[in-house]
Amino acid sequence: MLDIQSIRKDFPILSHTVYDKPLIYFDNAATTQKPRQVVEKIENGYYNVNANIHRGVHFLSQAATEAHEEARKTIQRFLNARSSNEIIFTRGTTESINLIASSFTDAFMEEGDEVIISEMEHHSNIVPWQIQAARKGISLKVIPITEKGELCMDTYRSLFSERTKLVSVAHISNVLGTINPVKEVIEIAHQHDVPVLLDGAQAVPHTKVDVQALDADFYVFSGHKIYGPTGIGVLYGKEDWLDKLPPYQGGGEMIATVTFEKTTFNELPFKFEAGTPDYIGSTALAEAIHYVEQLGIEAIAAHEDELLRHASKRLEAIEDVRIFGQSVHKSSVLSFLIGDIHHYDMGMLLDRLGIAVRTGHHCAQPLMKAFGIEGTVRASFAFYNTKEEIDTFIAGIERVKTMF
Ligand code: PMP
Repeated sequence: MLDIQSIRKDFPILSHTVYDKPLIYFDNAATTQKPRQVVEKIENGYYNVNANIHRGVHFLSQAATEAHEEARKTIQRFLNARSSNEIIFTRGTTESINLIASSFTDAFMEEGDEVIISEMEHHSNIVPWQIQAARKGISLKVIPITEKGELCMDTYRSLFSERTKLVSVAHISNVLGTINPVKEVIEIAHQHDVPVLLDGAQAVPHTKVDVQALDADFYVFSGHKIYGPTGIGVLYGKEDWLDKLPPYQGGGEMIATVTFEKTTFNELPFKFEAGTPDYIGSTALAEAIHYVEQLGIEAIAAHEDELLRHASKRLEAIEDVRIFGQSVHKSSVLSFLIGDIHHYDMGMLLDRLGIAVRTGHHCAQPLMKAFGIEGTVRASFAFYNTKEEIDTFIAGIERVKTMF
C-alpha cells in the first residue's frame, strides 16, 4: 500500500490551485509531474557536478562522466538489459523511434520491404516510417484493432510476408490504455525472423518491463513520462542489432578517429550519441527511476488499477457515455465522450473546475478515424492521484452535462 498523502508532498505542483480550485492533474499520459528529488538532482548537477563529460581529465569532468555512466547502468538494471552498451540516451521516444527508422531502414531495407505497425500507434510511431517510405520506397502494413481496442492478432499473423523486415508497436496505447500482448507479438515476429521495436512510452511508468524476458529487439521510452525531466529518453537495443546499425547523427563523441578522408565510429553506446549528451538529464532520469523503484512498480500498478476501476465504474454510470478502450488488460488511461458534448468544451469546462484532462486526437489521428470520431476527453492517472479526485472529476462531468 502506498502512502499517497505523504507521496504527494514530494510533488509541490500538486498543492497548487487553478482558478481558486485545488489542481486535479489527470494529464499524466502526456507528461508526469516531478518529485522534489528529481528537481534537486538537476539543481545539484548544475551547481556541483557540471562539466562536459568523457573528454576531460579534470576532477569535475570525471565526476560528471561517472554520474552519466552510472545513470546508464540504472536504466540497464531497470529494463534488465544484458549490458549498459545496449542503453542509448536520446531526447525521448520520438527521437528513439526516428533513430531506428532511419538507421534500420538504411542498413536492412530495400524498396518494397515492409514494416508492420498498428492502428493504435502514436504519430511518432507512424510518421518516421512514412518518411522512410518516401525516401526509400518501403511500405507500411497496419494491424487493425477490435471494437474493444485490442490488436487483431489473427490479422497480425497474416500480415507477414518475405518482405517484412520489422514490427513496431506500442506496448501500451496512450489513448485506449490497452496493454498489448507484446510477448506474443514478439514470438510471432521472431517465428518469421523479424525483429520488434516496442514503444514503451506509456508502459514503463505503469508496469515492470524486462527486455530479456520479452525478448524485445528494441524498446524505447521518454523520461518525462516516468517522473523524470523533459528532453531525455532511452533507446534499448540488443547489442547484436545496434552493432550492425549505422550511426544516426554525426559529430563529437560518436567517432573513434576523424580525418578528412575517412572517419571511424566509436563503439556502443557512444556511436549513437553524437554531441554533448544531456548528462544532467540522464542523472535526473536515473533519480526518477530510483523514486519509482522505491515505491515499487507493483504497488504503483495496483494503486493505478484501483483508480482506473473506480473511475471506470463511476463514468460508466453516467448516461450517454462512450468509453474508448475496453480491454481487460488496461492501464490507467480513460478516453471518453459524453453524448454530443464536444471533447474540447468538456476539457475547457473541467479546466475551470481545476481539473486538467487532455482533449483532442492525442497524436493518434488514424485511431480516431477507426472509431469514426474527431477526438476524445482523456483522463490519465498516476500513483499520486486519489479516489477523491476522481469523485470530484465525476461531479465536474455531471455539472458540465447539465450545462448542455
Ligand atoms: N508513443 C506514445 C505511446 C506516447 O504516449 C507518446 C507521448 N504522448 C509518444 C510516443 C511520444 O513521446 P515523446 O513526445 O516524449 O517523444
